[in-house]
Order: sequence, then structure tokens, then C-alpha cells
Amino acid sequence: MNPAHTILISPIGDFDSEITESVEKVIKRIFGFTATILPLFENAGFAFDSIRNQYHSTPILDKLESCAPAFALKVIAITDVDLFIPVLTHVYGEAQLGGRTCIVSTHRLKGPFLPVRVNNSHIQRIVKEAVHELGHTFSLRHCREHSCIMHYCRTELDVDRKSDQLCRYCRILLDDEIKKINKGSYVQEIGL
Ligand SMILES: [Zn+2]
Ligand SMILES: [Zn+2]
Repeated sequence: MNPAHTILISPIGDFDSEITESVEKVIKRIFGFTATILPLFENAGFAFDSIRNQYHSTPILDKLESCAPAFALKVIAITDVDLFIPVLTHVYGEAQLGGRTCIVSTHRLKGPFLPVRVNNSHIQRIVKEAVHELGHTFSLRHCREHSCIMHYCRTELDVDRKSDQLCRYCRILLDDEIKKINKGSYVQEIGL
């Protein structure tokens, strides 16, 4: 395994291992890279906004970037605090488009759940939004296809309605990005 092909999962605070392990598995399935669980920092207190009583996700991404070890291709943080960016009331996560870091929050992904699908659960939602944010770091943008994992969701029920897969179009874009990354590390290895 090329160590630069590891995606780091960085839980902020304590998480049920079922959550981190589910994210680990989905990373392998969708992106084809191995994932390593490694907390980079203990809490996100530095990003707390006392007026909004929420945490600003962008400074957390900056801190992840500065703490990320060289062997990590991408870093995804998982937090249970409520995240925001100034123009929105809340976000399920944020990512650096085409960058290295992203974050997903479990805070708003707890109930209610749509009863019509069997795979709706708190963990399913976290897994979907984790893939969505990581997809952005691989340069994927929002997709109009409602069932695509890159579809932008306004509500938790929207998250339930989308599948846990990329649409054909996004899959092609992701495969192209992954090819570029693999080619880049090959060029590095042979010293070009
Ligand atoms: Zn998005
Ligand atoms: Zn799509």
C-alpha cells in the first residue's frame, strides 16, 4: 500500500466504533483507498461562536490541514457539534473543493427517519454525508440527480431519500480524479 493513499478519519471527541468503522468501510467501497482512524485533536472549542452557539466549520478545516500528516491523501473529521458557515443556519459538513480536508457533523442527522426505506438510520446518514464531503475533496460538485450521493440535501429526510451511491456521471468524474492521483504518485515514485 502506498501510504499517501490513506484517507484519514479524524474523530473529534468520542464516537461509537460502529460509526467510524462504517465510514472506514464506505471509503474503501466508494474511493478504493484504505482508511485509518486517527484523532488529530480532541475538541473544536477554538471554532465555537458564542453568539450563534454553534461551531464555524471553516477554521476546523484549516486546523485539520495544518495537523494532517504527510501520509494522508485526504482527511475527514467527524464531530457531534452543530456546524455552521456564516451564510447558512447550519451545515451537515464542509469540504475544501479539490483540497485535502473535510468535516461531517452527526448533530442534525439524528431522527426523524423516513419509514419507507430499510437502510435509513443515523449511521446511514453519516456515511452518506461523509462520502458527500469527501467527494468534494475529489473535486466533485453538487449533482442535480436526486438519488446521487453528491446531491445537496437541505433536510435530514432529503438525506434519507438519496442513495448511498454516486450517479454514473459523478462516478466517471471521480474515477478520472483517482486516476490522476494514482498517476501522480507513480511519477513521484520513479522520480519524474
Ligand atoms: Zn456538498
Ligand atoms: Zn451525481
